Parts: sequence; structure tokens; C-alpha cells
Amino acid sequence: MSTSVLVINCGSSSIKYALVSERREDRIFGLAENLGSPEARIKGITTGGQELELSIPNADHEKALETILERLSHHNPQAIGHRVVHGGTLTKAELLTPEIIERIREATPLAPLHNPAHLVGIDATMRLFPHLPQIAVFDTAFHQTMPSHAYRYALPKFLYTMHNVRRYGFHGTSHAYVSERGSQLAGSFKQGGWLTAHLGNGSSTCAIWNGQSVDTSMGLTPLEGVVMGTRSGDVDPSIHSFLASNLGWDIYKIDKMLNSQSGLLGLSDLSNDMRTLIEAADEGNEDAALAIEVFCYRLAKSLAALSCGLPRIDGLFFTGGIGENSALIREKTLAYLPHFGFNLSKENNNALKRGTEGRIDAGTGPQIWVVPTDEEGRIAKETEHVVATLEHATTKKSEAETEVA
Ligand code: ADP
Repeated sequence: MSTSVLVINCGSSSIKYALVSERREDRIFGLAENLGSPEARIKGITTGGQELELSIPNADHEKALETILERLSHHNPQAIGHRVVHGGTLTKAELLTPEIIERIREATPLAPLHNPAHLVGIDATMRLFPHLPQIAVFDTAFHQTMPSHAYRYALPKFLYTMHNVRRYGFHGTSHAYVSERGSQLAGSFKQGGWLTAHLGNGSSTCAIWNGQSVDTSMGLTPLEGVVMGTRSGDVDPSIHSFLASNLGWDIYKIDKMLNSQSGLLGLSDLSNDMRTLIEAADEGNEDAALAIEVFCYRLAKSLAALSCGLPRIDGLFFTGGIGENSALIREKTLAYLPHFGFNLSKENNNALKRGTEGRIDAGTGPQIWVVPTDEEGRIAKETEHVVATLEHATTKKSEAETEVA
């Protein structure tokens, strides 16, 4: 990468940022958190790997972005790449124009927690940096290659045609990066059939054939699919009417329970954090042990189901905080998939530490790799690609105009 790109990920009360340049070691990154409260602050890593902690009491998104950008302005970023969770049916990264901003706004009912926060960030950076090209990179875009038999729900057709009710999938930048990098490591760049397991606080799986997503575990929203930190993943949809009829719960309460009080936290009644659960299970906590078992079994089930989208399985990539760090979770998950011929090398599996990529199978059966994700790097790359394409189009246009003149 020849230039630097500022990557912004705006949440409802936080902003993640990263200045991505050629060498990953030079990356400057951080998090502005508790925005809108007296505890608002920026924490991160600055030039030369030094730690930064800056109090910005009561700062809102715009003030925090102003502070971040002031600190980074001498690095002259050439463009800003915004992570946007839901792009509706947009299939690739796009220059932020009034029309694209409107499309992001239109997708808000599908990502009510995320898209409004992204729009606040976009609005602020557009005002602060009107001359920099700003690009939106969508979590959903990578999955737009799914065939209709993978993205349609078995619901009345008008819900799809008139209200866009379909499966979209998320974590697209991670699945795209990991499958591309992993297949490159495996010597078959963007070729063949691969499964990815992105396991963090939010988790999802994906099936990729010749570099394209053919199915994924998340659906209309990031609630569908595997067990997550606080999200339930798949449940019987009749849980809504059951809870409404028997406990008198309204839709908001049910939604909150499924999104924020379920998953590992709900099962263990202890924590949403996998490290805490592994420690607790080691000390004999049975609920923590069960939460881990359900997590691994459901994950294996999801991978097995997604394999139907692939003509053959060349291998599996683990990523995300849990996928990159927990040899135990990888081993337990693969133990539920013996019929796929996966043959884990315990030694290689146990040897992999945070941030290291490596192969962990024993040399027979489908390959198994750990590939640390790099969503910021991928967003920066896609941003650069859009900027280069636009520059190329502008040059071509002015050449054509000169010829006519
Ligand atoms: P996010 O989805 O917020 O980006 P991460 O990808 O950082 O989250 O993943 C966070 C999860 O990774 C937490 O559940 C955390 O406990 C887990 N994790 C991190 N390190 C380890 C480890 N050594 N063993 C098991 N789980 C780990």
C-alpha cells in the first residue's frame, strides 16, 4: 500500500480508528469510548508503538473525531474508509455520495443499532474533511454473491420483494480477508472450497468457493447463526410467541434478551468472555463447561451445514479473538466433525499464540489454519481500490475530452 488510509468504525458510544499504511507494524490505532459522558476518553497506540490515553470529557462523536484527526493530520491520510455494517443490497465499497448515504439510511431498519452511529461519524468527517475522498465499506457486501437458495427465507414472497426480508450475512470484511490470506498461505489463492469461523464477541461462519461467499451463518440481522458472547444465535422463532403468551414479555424485552443476555453469558450465567469461562470450567463450574460445549457443538453444526454450499472442502480457517487464541475451542469444535476427515495436529494447535498465523492439521484431510483477521487492513485496501478506480476514470474522462477538443 503506497498511501495511508484512516479507517473509522463508529459505534453508538465509541469510535474505533486506525491509520493504515504500508507496514502493519507502523499502524496507529485506538478507541474513543464513553462518548457523551464525563468519562469520555481516547485510548490507543500512537507513533512508535507508544501508548496513548487522553481524557475528552463529554466529547460527542464530532469532538472525538476532531481530536483524533487533529492528532493524525500530520500523517496526511489520503482517504477515509468507514466501516458500515449494513449496506442493504450494495455489492461493493462505494464513494460516499448523497445517494450512497441515502442507501445507508434506508438500510437502518435492518441494522438499527449500527447504521445510525455510522451515519453520525460519516456526517462529522464529511464536515471536518470535505476534501478527502470518503468510502463506505460494508460488512454485508462480501455475501452479496450468495445464491438465492442460500439467502432466501422460506417466508411469503412479498416480505422479500417488498420489504427486503432475506439473509444478508455480516463480518464480510473479515471472512473476505481471512479466506483470501488463508488460501494464499495454502498455495491456492482464491481457489477451492473453504470454511471460515470468525469467533469473537460476535461470531459467524462462512463458506467460500473460488473467493466468493456462497453461504454464511448470520442472516437478516447479526443475531442468526452460531452461539455468541451475548447473542443466542439460532433459536426456534416461536420463542417470541411463547414468551409473550406465557411470561407477558413485549417484543423489546425479547429482543434485548436474545441480543444482550443470551449466548455464552446466558448459558453460563457468569460471563460472555470465553477466557473467563475456560478458567471457570477448569475450576469445576458446570454451567461454564456446558456453555463451552454448546458453543463448540453449534459451531461444528454450522460448519457442517455450510459445507453444503461447497463442491468440495479444501480446508477451514479459524479467526477472531477466540479462533486465534483458543486451542481448546478449536480442538473441541473439530472433535464434532470427524466425518469430514479433519486431522488436527495437537502439537501445532497448542503452539499457536495470539497474532500468529499457521497451519494446524497433521498433513492429511482438509487443511486447518489459524489466520488472524485484519478488518482495518481490508477496509483500507478496499478504500484505496475505490479511490484508484475513481482517479483512473477521471483521467480517462479528461483524456477523452482533450481528444474531442
Ligand atoms: P470482538 O468481536 O469484540 O472484536 P474479539 O475478536 O477480540 O472480539 O474476541 C473476544 C473474545 O475472544 C472474548 O470472548 C475473549 O475471551 C476471547 N479470547 C481472547 N483471548 C482468548 C484466549 N486466550 N482464550 C480463549 N478466548 C480468548
